[in-house]
Amino acid sequence: MTATLPVVYDSGDFLLSSFRDRDGRPAPILETEARIERIVSGLRSCQHVRWVGAAGPEQALEIVGRMHSAEYLRFLAEASARSDGETLDERFAEPGIVPDTPVTKGAFDAAIRACSSAVAAANLLIAGDRQAYAVCRPPGHHAGRAFLGGYCYLNNAGAAAWALRDAGRRVGVVDVDYHHGNGTADVLSTEPDIPFVSLHASTLQAFPYVPTSPRGPNQWFVPFEEPPTEDHYLARLVEHLGHLSVDTIVISLGYDPVAGDPHGGWTMTPGFFRALARAFRETGCQLCFVQEGGYSLERLADCSRELALGLE
Ligand SMILES: [Zn+2]
Repeated sequence: MTATLPVVYDSGDFLLSSFRDRDGRPAPILETEARIERIVSGLRSCQHVRWVGAAGPEQALEIVGRMHSAEYLRFLAEASARSDGETLDERFAEPGIVPDTPVTKGAFDAAIRACSSAVAAANLLIAGDRQAYAVCRPPGHHAGRAFLGGYCYLNNAGAAAWALRDAGRRVGVVDVDYHHGNGTADVLSTEPDIPFVSLHASTLQAFPYVPTSPRGPNQWFVPFEEPPTEDHYLARLVEHLGHLSVDTIVISLGYDPVAGDPHGGWTMTPGFFRALARAFRETGCQLCFVQEGGYSLERLADCSRELALGLE
């Protein structure tokens, strides 16, 4: 039987004003609306995809108020309401990490819209769908309780997990972006009932460029010092999925493991994402995919199409 894949899509017409590299120097901005357009075009070629409109901001705002600190949210709201320039504030970078992402006009509203899409995908599972996918931006997994970074302002995957737990689900979060989900580890560090697994490139070689370790007994980090083969990566993923005693999984989904990604360094093919989706399907859990990174405009449509085909 073919399963449908409901996709919550928000076009995200947000423009970042600048971006910095690990040394604080100006760097190209690769997190753009064009990424999401490519991802959507790959999904449009799949008959089993069902398109769902974005939700209002009320539920996301309520969850964000519990997940992020009041002082951080006040800063984000005030800085993104300024009409001039941009704000880069060291107080709201993770300790030890060079601030790279400014708060540009409209950033808070865009981040709330992304969060609302993730929560809407979670609500589809609560209503009975076995899987859903929030195609949203800006991404969220580098946003912690009181810090932003790596293009992320609010933790979208965390918000989806909060919504699912509020509805009584046993939920875990698995991060399969090329980069470590440092923000998600932070927002979940106070939530021992939400286990977290992150598979990622070594954090000494890739963002956030600092040593990292699990923030509690219910967190597992799987860093790769060398580019893993697809089989090796999937074996480590399946091994760690076995640690989760959950009925629902929120997946922080990045397409930046694909070969040629300008923020990546691995060699995966687009077909890897079909195998990845199947590994998650085989858990028997309900699945909530939330878009994180992925910056190869040439390959994003192939990646999203392959992922969807693995969820057919
Ligand atoms: Zn990434």
